[in-house]
Amino acid sequence: MNKNKIDQIFTIWQEENPHPKTELIYSNNYTLLVAVVLSAQSTDIGVNKATKALFKIADTPEKMLKLGEDGLKKHINTIGLYNGKAKNVIALSEILVKKFNSEIPQDFETLQSLPGVGRKTANVVLNCAFGKPTIAVDTHVFRVSNRIGFVKEKDVLKTELALLKKIPKKWMTHAHHWLILHGRYICQARKPKCEECKISEFCEKNL
Ligand code: SF4
Repeated sequence: MNKNKIDQIFTIWQEENPHPKTELIYSNNYTLLVAVVLSAQSTDIGVNKATKALFKIADTPEKMLKLGEDGLKKHINTIGLYNGKAKNVIALSEILVKKFNSEIPQDFETLQSLPGVGRKTANVVLNCAFGKPTIAVDTHVFRVSNRIGFVKEKDVLKTELALLKKIPKKWMTHAHHWLILHGRYICQARKPKCEECKISEFCEKNL
């Protein structure tokens, strides 16, 4: 897809939603990191339900360690894979306190070295917490960017690297949120709503 079409699509998304945000609810960089770790293979709505009470009592690594793994599990047991996620949240909180003065690291490699933090989570945190122009490729971003024709790639890593090259810098900070929201509400996996899609005339419809 040529640059002109890509610009047209992002212009439409920007007009529609100039300041797109993650739908995960958080109050600081630490709760953002925890929410993203908990959201792996789970819905944002499900995570928000569980973290509403959790973040009132544990919004720092110290408070999370005080709550402990069993206490944390009681709050998140409605979320899939909660046993492993609880272990990871406690382990990463320990590391943050011991090694990073309870701050969230701002570089990709360090973030990715934390328990439960993969490439996607690190990219979301860098983007949402620090405004870095990263693109976290989840199932929506992968599907939508290939369907529209921004890229033609077979896996998430190749898609991320291709999007970083293809999307003009000026759109990069918000690109990941626009793509997710478009995938969640319009370009849905089984039944894309092409009739009501505002970018339809520019889309390659690689279904
Ligand atoms: S036109 Fe259809 S396939 Fe293309 S982005 Fe819109 S909903 Fe998705």
